[in-house]
Amino acid sequence: MSFMAPDDTAGPAVGRQLQCAVPTETLTGLPLDELADRLGSRTRALAARRWLCEARPIPAVLPDRIPGVSARAWETVRATAPLPPFTIVSRRQAADGTTKLALDLSGATVETVLIPGRERSTVCVSSQAGCTRHCRFCATATLGFTRHLTAGEIVLQYLVARGEEPRAAPARNVVFMGMGEPMDNLDAVLAAVDRLTEEAPPRLAAGRVTVSTSGVLPGMVRFLRESRAQLALSLNATTDAQRERLMPHDRVWPIAALLDALRDDYGRASGRRYFIEYVLWNDVNDGDADAARLVALLDGLPAHVNLIPHNAFAGNLLQPPARGRVLAFQRLVHDAGVRCLVRWPRGGQIAAACGQLALGR
Ligand code: SAH
Repeated sequence: MSFMAPDDTAGPAVGRQLQCAVPTETLTGLPLDELADRLGSRTRALAARRWLCEARPIPAVLPDRIPGVSARAWETVRATAPLPPFTIVSRRQAADGTTKLALDLSGATVETVLIPGRERSTVCVSSQAGCTRHCRFCATATLGFTRHLTAGEIVLQYLVARGEEPRAAPARNVVFMGMGEPMDNLDAVLAAVDRLTEEAPPRLAAGRVTVSTSGVLPGMVRFLRESRAQLALSLNATTDAQRERLMPHDRVWPIAALLDALRDDYGRASGRRYFIEYVLWNDVNDGDADAARLVALLDGLPAHVNLIPHNAFAGNLLQPPARGRVLAFQRLVHDAGVRCLVRWPRGGQIAAACGQLALGR
């Protein structure tokens, strides 16, 4: 695991240390080649992956037999690469179909959300239990940091949520927008993206997997070079003075450096477009001047801005702008030629919206 200690602060707030051992070798974390080696053939490895994706629900313990794999070969895998230990602690469904699952993973609680769409559902996964960053507007940050998740635990979240997908809207999109800062756990995140997109079920399109970062530059640069998945940058402000107050690590990796990294990637003809997340706060970053600066910052980049009206939570004074202001901001950005959508909160009543994953247990 690569843990990059944030050098902007004294280090992450480490919560209670876990006593339970976290298995590093798990079935959901094994690359296809490795699984094929252990099962003695690629065909068996594909059968095992198919079984994993189709099991409804995912069992807590691997069964004695699965279709298409000889009992002896399977036994070797069962003995050396079990499923990551998990239990579903709670499951809540909002009226719009958004389903929030709280999973216990070897003693750490994380949240995974299934968001049904018209033809496809999106699974929002966590990359850490808690978070290594200290964004002032995020409910997860109030929890501190418990631990990094393994690749197998990240893939497992997808599989468990997939078990809840509506028949008409299969879970074919994954966003790393749950708990945690993916770039602070990049080895595991890259491995999980690989498992989700390699030539075996679930075989998601790399363009449909999006990793969201609060702007941890070294990780972002490595991610852009090593992965084919999409990147979302949580920009959230248009001047460093403003951003530093909201996201303290901006002091180390300022806006210009973050956008330069995107420009470099664009210059390498990666074919990516860049998602820019911009949480809107009343009287903080929602003015006409902010919209104009945002447009100027993104000049020349194939950017897609997602405006997220702040999800307020108890103990935090920030508030979202009024609906009319959100729409006016969107219009300003859109009329200046930048693609811009508003992500109105979904699943609000079950605290599944962005930044609220720590609440409502
Ligand atoms: N650490 C990563 C991924 C998790 S946060 C990141 O920062 O990108 C996912 C998104 O939720 C980010 O764009 C973040 O800015 C946004 N967010 C966090 N707290 C929020 C809140 N209270 N209301 C609305 N959006 C929030």
